Amino acid sequence: MAALTEAGLLGTWEAAQALPAVRRALALAVAGGAQPSTVVDLAVGRRDGFLLALRESCFGPAWQALVTCPACGEELELELSGEDVRAPAPAVPAATVTAAGYEVDLRPVTSRDLLAVRRDAPDARRRLLQRCVVAARQAGREVATAELPDAALDALPGALSTCDPQADVRLSLDCVTCGHHWAAPFDVATYLWTELDTYARRLMHEVHALALGYGWSESDVLAVSPARRRYYLELAGSTA
Ligand SMILES: [Zn+2]
Repeated sequence: MAALTEAGLLGTWEAAQALPAVRRALALAVAGGAQPSTVVDLAVGRRDGFLLALRESCFGPAWQALVTCPACGEELELELSGEDVRAPAPAVPAATVTAAGYEVDLRPVTSRDLLAVRRDAPDARRRLLQRCVVAARQAGREVATAELPDAALDALPGALSTCDPQADVRLSLDCVTCGHHWAAPFDVATYLWTELDTYARRLMHEVHALALGYGWSESDVLAVSPARRRYYLELAGSTA
């Protein structure tokens, strides 16, 4: 995909900033090249592939992150590459799980599923898993999804991760202070949004400062390259 201009990134930020998390991830995926009409039905990992593309085209291939060691509380700075945050494509985009005497055919979780199930509902996890069941059998007999016991549903998350690994990226981390080793989940939607929000606010601050200093409009400021803008900002600051 072509990198967005600064004005394009500001427009993307503006459109996404008022949205709840899943809708926001969808808006960012569309900015990353996903089809608006079909993105909601993509497996979450495929949707996140568009977020990775957007992030790398706008901010480059290196990822920085801060994590806190769960054992000693030390704050660690991470430098990640695209390989760290990109999972290999699944061999098959579906799975069949046998558990508790049931055979269950699955498909990956989509954004439509996440929108349909309120996260704070008491049975949210169960309902989300049920939505991913394509068919279920017991001793060769078709079984309705609602009849599946928890013992069968509990076996599904591992298989969901296998058929959509990009939706469940985990970073293998070692603490340099205490030696603790752990696997931290990496949520590209949260990461990208935090980065875009910081970027947009800094850009608007520059527009504000240069509008005050020189009487330029927003489009005037954005037409000036970032390198020149830094110099004008220094000059505006030195005369303020
Ligand atoms: Zn530690």
